Amino acid sequence: MKKLIHDKWHILVTAFVCVIFGGFFAAFLQNTADLKKDLIREAERHAVEVNGKLADYFSDYLNTNLYIVTELAHTLSLDSEPPKGLLTTHKEEFGLDTISILGKQDAPAEDSEAKERAEQWQDANPHIWEEPLITCNEENALVFSAPILLEEAPADYLVLGTKSYEELYRQVFGSDSSPAMGMLLDGSGALVAGPVGSEQLLGADLKDALYEGFFEELAAEVQQNVLEAQGAFSVRVLTDEQLLVSAHRLGINDWIQVILLPWSPGRAYLQHLENYLWLGIQFVIASSIMIVYVMVLQTRAKNKLDQVAYCDFVTGGITNRAFQSQCVERLRRSEWTAHAIIYFDICNFKHVNEKWGIENGNRILQHVYNCFRKNIRSDELVTRSEMDHYFLLLHGNSEEEFQQRVDALVQVINSFHGVYQEQYHLNFTVGAYVFHETEERVQALQDHARRAAKFSDALNTCTFYNNKIIEKIERENRLNLLFEESLKNHDFQIYLQPKVYLQQQRPCASEALVRWVHPQEGMIYPSEFIPLFEENGKICELDIYVFEEVCKIIDRWRREGRTLSEISVNISRVHIKKMQTGFQERYLEIKEKYHIPDGIIQLELTETSMFYAQQYPYVTEMIQNFHNAGFTCALDDFGFGYSSLSMLKEFNVDTIKLDRSFFVNESEKSRIVVANMIRLAHDMDIQIVAEGIEEAEQVNSLIELGCDLIQGYYYAKPLPVTEFEHWKDSEMERFHER
Ligand code: C2E
Ligand code: CA
Ligand code: CA
Repeated sequence: MKKLIHDKWHILVTAFVCVIFGGFFAAFLQNTADLKKDLIREAERHAVEVNGKLADYFSDYLNTNLYIVTELAHTLSLDSEPPKGLLTTHKEEFGLDTISILGKQDAPAEDSEAKERAEQWQDANPHIWEEPLITCNEENALVFSAPILLEEAPADYLVLGTKSYEELYRQVFGSDSSPAMGMLLDGSGALVAGPVGSEQLLGADLKDALYEGFFEELAAEVQQNVLEAQGAFSVRVLTDEQLLVSAHRLGINDWIQVILLPWSPGRAYLQHLENYLWLGIQFVIASSIMIVYVMVLQTRAKNKLDQVAYCDFVTGGITNRAFQSQCVERLRRSEWTAHAIIYFDICNFKHVNEKWGIENGNRILQHVYNCFRKNIRSDELVTRSEMDHYFLLLHGNSEEEFQQRVDALVQVINSFHGVYQEQYHLNFTVGAYVFHETEERVQALQDHARRAAKFSDALNTCTFYNNKIIEKIERENRLNLLFEESLKNHDFQIYLQPKVYLQQQRPCASEALVRWVHPQEGMIYPSEFIPLFEENGKICELDIYVFEEVCKIIDRWRREGRTLSEISVNISRVHIKKMQTGFQERYLEIKEKYHIPDGIIQLELTETSMFYAQQYPYVTEMIQNFHNAGFTCALDDFGFGYSSLSMLKEFNVDTIKLDRSFFVNESEKSRIVVANMIRLAHDMDIQIVAEGIEEAEQVNSLIELGCDLIQGYYYAKPLPVTEFEHWKDSEMERFHER
């Protein structure tokens, strides 16, 4: 069982770890797939942001310079003679590469190439003579031009400022850091300025990727996308996703600022893996701590459970469950050929509790356990299985040897002093099952020992489970099977034992005692079947049957005109133990059914059945109910238990029946006890019956003591009803003759 729990726990932990790591791995894969998209999205966002800032800066710069140039042109339009050094100041102040005034009629430059470029620029931008413009010349420089307008006449001069696009680009980014490349395109995708930037930022393979025609392709792409996106910006990942391209409208002319950013997914993946690895390690540490924590909690809880399941809190020894599992182990390893399971039941232990209290009772249980434990071998076992019952596993060779060991154990147990003021001798009912090799479960071995003890007829003497016991058990089983049928067939017969009034010396009452007269089994006495039926509860049904049979007898007597005399009927302790309500109603119903007059039936309740104080209120009420219904009540076997006197004050009974044990081996002491009991009973207005009286001397002595009634073999044994009637008739005759 322990192993099973252990295995289950292992499977659970493994499954938990697998699920966690499986989940973690799936999440990793899923995230990796998503990652690529996320990374691209993130890089795009970054590129857009960078380019947006760049574009803002660019457009600011361009507009400012155009404004300056325009203002300059305006100033110049007012003065016929432009102030000397004005242009140089402006050039330095605004960081322009050149600033100059260009006249329509100015002589073309000496340099034919420069002349051609200037002409080309002028041809491409005819509006420069009409309004301020930003353009780009063939030298990749941005040109800020503003016509100097004199009155209404068309302009003959321009103020021209230039700034190298590459210079500007570097100024913005300060160094050779990213973005890798920048360029200006026009609305048609044609290159206006650039590309500029650090080509060395692009890796070798990326440079290879910038194949011929790349820019054309890029231009086309940008044009299309910008148009689609209504021109704000557009981002594209080109050349095997290693280059991010961002385009942004400048708001100047139809220019678009394009930047190219190198992007390495490999590095991003690596970073991602690294992050995940860290996360994984943290996760493993966290879950390990959690698992260890859970395991510690679980182990603690299990230990606690084990303690409850395997440790007997009264004796501090092992429980029966532990005994059973350890037995299997011990037997497997034992080199002995014969073993015995021995059952010890302390006799009348409830009286020990009653006399010294539960706490001292527990101390005695502990003492008994310790005596067993200290006097068995290390490969033997003992447990207190429940209440005052113990099981021992002993090894030995013969029944005699086991009996000797039992004798020795009982002697050790009874050699104690000190726990209580007075010496108390503990007796045991002992059963044993001896075996050599067995396939049976320990529980079954224990059952054999316990059942053997049930048939024990001498104190402290091992009753061995053998064929004789098996026969008895089989007989019990047979009787159990026969019960229902016998009840139907009226095999249970009523015998009446007379109770004689001592003072009047006349027969007056009787007790109904049941006999089982079975066609095959013969006469069976209550001593054999009553304990059996008390054990399985059949007694309740039998009691009702007996009661009804008694009612029938009284009913017949009444119909036959006989003088009615009291009959007492036994009520088993089982009714009281069950504390059922409702059973009394059955009695009342039957009493009414046979029109039984009040005061004719007495109900005998066994004193020992009312041991437990928690039953007192129930029993008090039960007696009250019986009284109300016209029954009288007797306390049977009075003096047999230890709480007899306290019970008298508790229960409102009409009669007490002094137990037979008072009169066997009668001594002076028991005579005093009986004398005082009789006095006490009379003081309380309770009738007293002496039971089991066999001798004339006993009768005389009881007459002297003032006892009310006698029931015993001295007068008559329990008799079949017709015999009882004859007996009663002749006794009545004798009485009247006297
Ligand atoms: P009990 O109620 O104490 O009944 C008295 C027992 O003592 C009867 O034994 C009776 O035969 C026996 N007895 C009477 N006088 C003498 C005597 O002078 N000497 C000796 N040695 N014995 C005497 P019985 O009939 O065998 O009944 C035994 C017990 O079985 C009864 O003890 C009672 O507890 C139980 N019993 C009998 N009939 C019924 C029943 O119908 N219902 C219940 N619940 N128990 C019953
Ligand atoms: Ca009785
Ligand atoms: Ca009795």
